[in-house]
Amino acid sequence: MSDLLATLSNTGIAKQLGLPTVPTLRRHRPGDPLLAGPVLVASVGESRFAKAVTAFVEEQGVPALTAVGEDRLHGVVVDLSGARTLADLAAAQQILTPAVKRLGPSGRVLLIGAEPAEASGAEAAAVAQSLDGLVRSIGKELRFGATANLLVVAADVTPAAIDSSVRFFLSARSAYVDGQVAHVAAPVGQPREPGEVDDPRAEEQPLAGRIAVVTGAARGIGAAIADTLARDGASIVAVDIPAAGEGLARTANRTGGTALQLDITASDAADRLLSHLADRHDGVDIVVHNAGITRDKLLANMTSDRWDSVLGVNLGAQLTINEALLAKGSPLHEAGRVVCVSSQSGIAGNRGQTNYAASKAGVIGMVRALAPRFAERGATINAVAPGFIETDMTATMPVATREGGRRINSLKQGGLPVDVAEAIGWFGRAESGGLNGQVVRVCGQSMLGA
Ligand code: NAD
Repeated sequence: MSDLLATLSNTGIAKQLGLPTVPTLRRHRPGDPLLAGPVLVASVGESRFAKAVTAFVEEQGVPALTAVGEDRLHGVVVDLSGARTLADLAAAQQILTPAVKRLGPSGRVLLIGAEPAEASGAEAAAVAQSLDGLVRSIGKELRFGATANLLVVAADVTPAAIDSSVRFFLSARSAYVDGQVAHVAAPVGQPREPGEVDDPRAEEQPLAGRIAVVTGAARGIGAAIADTLARDGASIVAVDIPAAGEGLARTANRTGGTALQLDITASDAADRLLSHLADRHDGVDIVVHNAGITRDKLLANMTSDRWDSVLGVNLGAQLTINEALLAKGSPLHEAGRVVCVSSQSGIAGNRGQTNYAASKAGVIGMVRALAPRFAERGATINAVAPGFIETDMTATMPVATREGGRRINSLKQGGLPVDVAEAIGWFGRAESGGLNGQVVRVCGQSMLGA
């Protein structure tokens, strides 16, 4: 369902009519530069990451500035991992205030902070935690599709461990990820081919040589995930129910991957999936649990059929397959990456969706519980929680609900399936081993559940 206000904004008519305008978000296109213009890189206190971020920005062929001048900024990175005192926080404000004034459309603010739990003393912990409120407020103030996010890094994290996250948050791949906080710890698991990180093609094909299975890949967000991971170099194993066979075949053909017809709730589903991956593909690197269903009803009218089917597809099947992936002899490779699709409904709750919201909140609980167990195998598990995404599902909503869903976020629009897929690709990278047990919302900083 097209977004009329966005269309009117593009033609300038919305402004003439006095309507709010919807910014056009810059999204990644192969061949486009990762960064569109100069980036301010600054730090407060002892700087752990500014040098590496500067080197990365300059590698992209754009200037890394140390002070705000007349140039329009594409990005602002402030390394606050060494900030300990209120004076340090005030210094951050002094950097950020002129910088946000110069930030251009689809600009990026990225703060890097210390882990509050590791801080020595109340003031340092308070300052580390204050970045959370600061970044979420910046996200709400920025305009024209600009975003603000925070990376919280543990004390033993090296610059290399945040590299894939810095790339993601500064690039157009994170177009609809706003107001988010991701924690980075010392990485688990080594890439299968350590050389791949330095490969000059790495940015266009960061998933080259990786095998990715995507459930629910016949249509919607799952199809976009398959397309995006394939664009980034992964070989796709697309999974969906036999009834969705046509769409599944289309996804497999489009991505040059293979199709596996499988109901993930079948009692032998985990066995069939893992044997298929072991026998036909020499194992798997990335597992995306995307398949999901809704069977909405108010709780007062909820039947056990509706309850059981939603919990079974959205949570039960993921639990079973994850246990199989963790079992001895599983085909999950070293540096394996499991990414689960949760939902904003699982965080904020939603009227008529007790079953769905319970299942999606359950996914978050599962991810947090399994993170240490996947780490023991050198693998990670994380979740993305999409907000309002323009899909067949949201197109069938009543007009008022749909309009409301689109606008109550900082970017004033719905996200696209590719936005969810890009976040999954970030978690899927071999270099993202420092991200484990994380839940990142792809919601344009929705006000719901924030
Ligand atoms: P969709 O209904 O368009 O696609 C879901 C796919 O999963 C379908 O192809 C379906 O056949 C498949 N599937 C369902 N049951 C299955 C089973 N038992 N075994 C294998 N495959 C099965 O949904 P979508 O909008 O693309 O959503 C994808 C995921 O994103 C879901 O987990 C959904 O809950 C989540 N999500 C969507 C939105 C949104 O705005 N659309 C928001 C938040 C979260």
